[in-house]
Amino acid sequence: MELHSLFLFAILAGIFLPAPVDSAYVAYNTSSGIVPGKINVHLVPHSHDDVGWLKTVDQYYAGANNSIRGACVQNVLDSVISALLDDSNRRFIYVEMAFFERWWRQQSDVLKAKVKRLVDSGQLEFINGGMCMHDEATPHYIDLIDQTTLGHRFILDEFGKKPRVGWQIDPFGHSAVQGYLLGAELGFDSLFFARIDYQDRAKRISTKTLEVIWKASRSLGSSSQIFTGIFPVHYEPPDGFNFEINDVSDPIQDDPLLFDYNVRQRVNDFVAAALAQANVTRTNHIMWTMGTDFRYQYAVSWFRQMDKFIHYVNLDGRVNALYSTPSIYTDAIFAAKEKWPLKTGDFFPYADRENAYWTGYFTSRPGFKGYVRSLSGYYLAARQLEFFKGRYSTGPNTDALADALALAQHHDAVSGTQRQHVAADYALRLSIGHKEAEKVVASSLAALTSSRLKSTQMDSNPEFQQCPLLNISYCPPSEANFTNGKSLVIIAYNSLGWKREDVIRIPVSSENLVVRDSAGKEIESQLLPISNISLLTTEYLVKAYLGISASGSARYWLAFSVSVPPLGFSTYTVSSSKSTESRSFVSTVYTSEEGSVENLEVGQGDLKLLYSANEGRLTHYANKRNLVTELPELSYSYYTGYNGTDRVFQASGAYVFRPNGTFPIEPKGQVPLAVIRGPLLDEVHQQLNAWLYQVTRVYKDKEHAEVEFTIGPIPVDDGYGKEIVTKISTALSSNKTFYTDSNGRDFIKRIRDYRADWDLDVHQPVAGNYYPINLGIYLADETRELSVLVDRAVGGSSLVDGQIELMLHRRLINDDTRGVGEALNETVCVLDDCKGLMVRGKFYFRIDPLGEGAKWRRTLGQEIYSPPLLAFSEEEEGYNWKSSRTTTFSAMDQSYSLPNNIAVITLQELQSGKVLLRLAHLYEAGEDKDYSVVSGVELKKLFSGKKIKKVTEMTLSGNQERKKMEKSRLEWKVEDEDEEKVVRGGGVDPVKLVVELAPMEIRTFIIDFDYLSSHGDSDIHHRL
Ligand SMILES: [Zn+2]
Repeated sequence: MELHSLFLFAILAGIFLPAPVDSAYVAYNTSSGIVPGKINVHLVPHSHDDVGWLKTVDQYYAGANNSIRGACVQNVLDSVISALLDDSNRRFIYVEMAFFERWWRQQSDVLKAKVKRLVDSGQLEFINGGMCMHDEATPHYIDLIDQTTLGHRFILDEFGKKPRVGWQIDPFGHSAVQGYLLGAELGFDSLFFARIDYQDRAKRISTKTLEVIWKASRSLGSSSQIFTGIFPVHYEPPDGFNFEINDVSDPIQDDPLLFDYNVRQRVNDFVAAALAQANVTRTNHIMWTMGTDFRYQYAVSWFRQMDKFIHYVNLDGRVNALYSTPSIYTDAIFAAKEKWPLKTGDFFPYADRENAYWTGYFTSRPGFKGYVRSLSGYYLAARQLEFFKGRYSTGPNTDALADALALAQHHDAVSGTQRQHVAADYALRLSIGHKEAEKVVASSLAALTSSRLKSTQMDSNPEFQQCPLLNISYCPPSEANFTNGKSLVIIAYNSLGWKREDVIRIPVSSENLVVRDSAGKEIESQLLPISNISLLTTEYLVKAYLGISASGSARYWLAFSVSVPPLGFSTYTVSSSKSTESRSFVSTVYTSEEGSVENLEVGQGDLKLLYSANEGRLTHYANKRNLVTELPELSYSYYTGYNGTDRVFQASGAYVFRPNGTFPIEPKGQVPLAVIRGPLLDEVHQQLNAWLYQVTRVYKDKEHAEVEFTIGPIPVDDGYGKEIVTKISTALSSNKTFYTDSNGRDFIKRIRDYRADWDLDVHQPVAGNYYPINLGIYLADETRELSVLVDRAVGGSSLVDGQIELMLHRRLINDDTRGVGEALNETVCVLDDCKGLMVRGKFYFRIDPLGEGAKWRRTLGQEIYSPPLLAFSEEEEGYNWKSSRTTTFSAMDQSYSLPNNIAVITLQELQSGKVLLRLAHLYEAGEDKDYSVVSGVELKKLFSGKKIKKVTEMTLSGNQERKKMEKSRLEWKVEDEDEEKVVRGGGVDPVKLVVELAPMEIRTFIIDFDYLSSHGDSDIHHRL
């Protein structure tokens, strides 16, 4: 006891420190490593560099636009490198490869060689290592994988290194997919972050559970778990230890000849801060994150202070201070051989204090979110086509789109939490990348359709146009006049691994049309009139987005069914019909104003929707096949945003959702229904108010309803920001329970007003129950399940049993005081005439018998992500496209299809000529009785006509062999470990070449082909 008290006295008084001597050069001893038995304070120097937020990525890099924020990443990297070269004990971590790559390419070979030595010695360590620190709520998992792969490949190519640690310090809540997929499956040994719910943090501090083993996947269990460290406060140093030039923390002043000598005082401060933190963690290691946003612009101002602290604190001896990195910290606590508490599920939603749920950004900038998602699917398809044709190293290629999409995943990009000019910068980059990828797609399709031609005929390659504004009925090639004998040729490319049947639609200007399939056979088609209001909208938006006047010639949508083989295309032609030919069916149009009919039925197939004409609304849902019936309600309402400007009156803004009342959108008087009917699909049009238009579609061969909404400009002239939601209400008694996806992958169980990890204090019954949705949301009772799928990231919930709610658009007039400093008030302008942004999107709903919804959610979900890619060309009169060109194509063996539970999520030719292949099992364990099973993919049939030389299984980002990673990664121990059985696919036999995938497994391969002995498709590969 006596010894113990003496030690305590020493700790408090700091008596171990020697008295000051003369003013002289001090050779600071910064060499300390870990000292067993002491509290080790790991100083981790870092700079959090957003790849766009208040300034664009390039403005941050170059230090431009500094009136907004003095931030220059070149300064950070220049000064850090020279500070590291000055003292070999100093360390620094770097995270955002988008910045590092910009800096790297402008350095001399001499400096590059020095930097490589810093990386080799571990002084400079890349962690996380994606192009950006991605958001975790609103990106799709395929985008997360792609952006991480890009950064990891850069690190591997330039430095031969593989990052070991996840560092998601700033994102606003954390997804299960981050924990297991973008953590464990990358081979990371640990993951660190700062932002979790304030109530969760308080409990974790009091129970010493800030450090956990996160088992985030129910299907993959302990085979995909990761050590996760949550910072006790934020990602800054403890108070009083910030050392950027203008920071107010006291420096150590250790020259006794000057005033304010303070070594003992500052060492006491350091020890006190260390002991406070050591109190809430389990080992004798603590990490201090030495830095924050855009710090180290003059790095020596930090390193000078840390040199002194390490020197004097270690002379003092009560605690041990060292230069460290998260990897060193991870190894140190692993060596402590602790058992760690288990965490399952995810860390959504995130509130940083009462009434401040960061659930608004799940929907912020819905137009941009839709753009990112549609280009993500396009990028997947474009890379496949690029591979079939053979990649050009010097363009056009898909690299610019890859870069733009990577930046767009940043936690202030697709999240919608950046300034307006920065959002425009991301969109511009996407558009440039898209344009270039369109060239790749067009030239690949030209080559594939011409593969039967002799090389002397190659100059006759067709030109292919694409129509990115198809969703606003703008497509010049399809709107052309075909009375002159020309025909429109449409190629529909399918990037899925299975055959698909879809109804596509294109705007056309005439009604006497005939559609033929790849074999030249006339097929059924349907014309749906385009309203004048819709045409005016098209004209306005084309002027706003393209700066040109649309011809305004489109009068109809022409709809027809396409049937497309896996990884392949089919060809359709549209021409003027001669009198002998069957023409497109002109839909019948009925408006409820005209007649006295009380109930209107739509649906030509199994699904019927019944509308009350009097009330102007949906009343019945019935599926003839499975006999599910329901009396659903589909309605819209809005929340007004809180208008406050301080903490108490927290406003709704780009990040935070803080509603102040909810108001149904009830049209004044009866809303006329316009019902359009035809052989392929029926539509119900409703103008619900001046800024909300809804079309509900029922396709003959589909058993779901598709709802297309057009919302905006949201009026704010009454002084209130508004957040628009749709609600689908049913009688299902869902008992507070619903399921939302994690980045489009695993579904996570949610219970209203409940958190598994702590007793929730409910302050915001709406915002606090919102979750991010990328794929869909569903709920169930004992007999049925209601599922809703989405076409982009949105926020949603189930606030009432049987009801699903989605937030589709938001326009707000106050900043929510989380730093962005702008209200989320998006407008679209023609010259100086600006209106609130209009958003058009879709959601899809369906009711199934209990246990049968997963098949639809997984299959349609994949189809929504990867719609058929359409390209248009022209056939001159007298030219017979069918007889001279390839009209159907599949890269796979003609008899082969991927199993229904497996998707190709990456098929890409790398610069090396090797091919990156990723296969994903689409189902969770236990999700579906037929599809939650191990399934195989036959690589020989997937790559028909190519000879596979070697298949190497890699980690998720493709930067190391999976086998090696599995041998070297740390095996953590969990408290109260349960017996569990985890299923994974087995090894790939080099002769059979069949890849097995277990539920939720994603497997990544690098494939070498033997091009010399290949035949068939590879002719194309070499000819181009
Ligand atoms: Zn950030």
